[in-house]
Amino acid sequence: MKNKGTQRRDFIKLSALGLGAVFSVGPFTKGYSYLLNDTKYELPPLPYATSALEPYIDEQTMQIHHDRHHAGYVKNLNSAVESDGLSAISLDELLRGVSKYSNAIRNNGGGHYNHSLFWKLMTPAGGGDPSGPIADAIDASFGSFEKFQELFNNAAKTRFGSGWAWLVSNNGKLEVGSTPNQDNPLMDVSDLKGFPLIGIDVWEHAYYLKYQNKRGDYIDSWWRVINWNEVNKRLALGK
Ligand code: MN
Repeated sequence: MKNKGTQRRDFIKLSALGLGAVFSVGPFTKGYSYLLNDTKYELPPLPYATSALEPYIDEQTMQIHHDRHHAGYVKNLNSAVESDGLSAISLDELLRGVSKYSNAIRNNGGGHYNHSLFWKLMTPAGGGDPSGPIADAIDASFGSFEKFQELFNNAAKTRFGSGWAWLVSNNGKLEVGSTPNQDNPLMDVSDLKGFPLIGIDVWEHAYYLKYQNKRGDYIDSWWRVINWNEVNKRLALGK
């Protein structure tokens, strides 16, 4: 149970970040407050049915990925935080200072953040070319959407073993790269640093049931469900 002091502290943290408007509107309210500030780590519900991304991402993969893999990261993160005697640290803060914590917190905290982000970056109404501020930012940083996509796909295909490919923002300057395992560009231990705008899971569990060893086909399909609205929201958050 949180006492009043803790609640007030959280409120002040929210206000200090200037994100009140984002938290108060729209169906993404829980997701944003959750990713950035909640000190309680819980499995967020998928924002659509498990079959909604068919035929690009199959239903069984979504079920196992969300209900077992992501649930496992959340469970193990809570266990690690409890056994290490940590409390009231937001997920965002945990990741930014992850060098101070155990490998269990690095792996499961990263897994929890990355997957919470990943579900929201997909939508059955997604795909196509970007629009809005992200389209301009991509053009400014990479020359064209096609050039950016080529770099991103290459990062995703060449990440050896398990990991993630990313588009990150550093004060509006965009960069593409990848991280191993469940590392995240917010982590102080990460070579690639920045606020994650797009992240694609290239662990085999994300695609193997439908695509087997053809990671490239999975990546091509994934672009058909990308949620550009969500990417624009993240661009506005991640200065
Ligand atoms: Mn995964």
